[in-house]
Amino acid sequence: MKINKHFLDLQDSYLFSTIAKKALAHIADNPDANVLRLGIGDVTRPLPKVAVDAMTAAVADMGSASTFRGYGPEQGYPFVREAVQKYYAAKGVELTADEIYVGDGAKSDIGNILELFDRDNNIIIPDPVYPAYVDANIMAGRTVHYVNGDEGNGFLPMPDSVGVKPDIIYICSPNNPTGSVYTREQLKAWVDFALENNAIILFDSAYECFISDKSLPSSIFEIEGARKCAVEIATLSKMAGFTGVRCGYTIIPHELEFEGQNIGKMWMRRQATKFNGISYIVQKGAEAVLTPEGLAQCRENIAVYMENAKTIATTMADLGIWHVGGDNAPYIWLKCPQGLSSWDFFDKLLSEAHIVGTPGAGFGVKGEGYFRLSAFNSKENVLEAMKRIKEIL
Ligand code: PLP
Repeated sequence: MKINKHFLDLQDSYLFSTIAKKALAHIADNPDANVLRLGIGDVTRPLPKVAVDAMTAAVADMGSASTFRGYGPEQGYPFVREAVQKYYAAKGVELTADEIYVGDGAKSDIGNILELFDRDNNIIIPDPVYPAYVDANIMAGRTVHYVNGDEGNGFLPMPDSVGVKPDIIYICSPNNPTGSVYTREQLKAWVDFALENNAIILFDSAYECFISDKSLPSSIFEIEGARKCAVEIATLSKMAGFTGVRCGYTIIPHELEFEGQNIGKMWMRRQATKFNGISYIVQKGAEAVLTPEGLAQCRENIAVYMENAKTIATTMADLGIWHVGGDNAPYIWLKCPQGLSSWDFFDKLLSEAHIVGTPGAGFGVKGEGYFRLSAFNSKENVLEAMKRIKEIL
């Protein structure tokens, strides 16, 4: 028996475990300190009421012979797919319900979809970015090519920095960790580049619900030509607080074909073999959050996070600290002051202000010297954290 040796090529994922260890040690040494967590990328507010009510009713359905459900369709119940279809129609994106594949969240689909593609493809991944893209590809034995984000490009790398023939291109917009968002023109450049090179774009729209500037695209399918080159991976995690409930969806347009094979059909075949769908109960919750009432309740939660984001961004501006994000995303990406490294700034914030953030180096080599602050917290905690940061800087 031989193991998959590519696992040995993975960097140990020290980031969040090291953060947790350091925070715990700090709390042990400072039992009276009110430690504030602005590191976390997880939502903090409870589920919208419509979702709770719909899931409660769905549990009751499961307890009655006439409404009980067993295995559902692998692609998701039509009622969820039609709800997603309407959500996109409201943005001006026309989809058919059978182009939508319901799953248990973006992370699974980001990794699983790679099974459809040959191992020798060239993978293009932005740096810094959500670490799952890199790790999923390394596990599969692929070589990753990075496109670098920096202050010059506002942490939005463009196709002219790709140095190899691209096959699979990851785009995360709004980006985790930087909070920067591609404009329509910039996304069009990526779509044209993918079409010219017969490449596929895997577009992660996990934070699309935080975009308030209507001129910015919240779906790759707002861009002409994208239906021929892109897959969109979306989630209710951040939008509806479903990080613990688990529901997402992947959109694969009918036109998407490579080497004469239809990508949607391949994905359906993969899912039907290895996935039995998510629970009826969760899908009823998902349907409810996508109703007008549900979307309004989601927006109330999002507004709280975005007010926090504004508070953080304004504080950074007042302190003269270079930063991006925070206006259309729940993350603020800042340059560590006083020339500190990501981890030195982490230690300074923790020891002097009792604040936990996330060192940028955990998101890629180009994240060194930068830092992520998250808006996922209460208004009171964010205000208190900003007061303390002003005091120590
Ligand atoms: N994509 C990005 C960019 C993320 O930041 C996250 C989670 O933080 C995910 C995907 C995972 O989302 P899900 O909860 O749907 O698996």
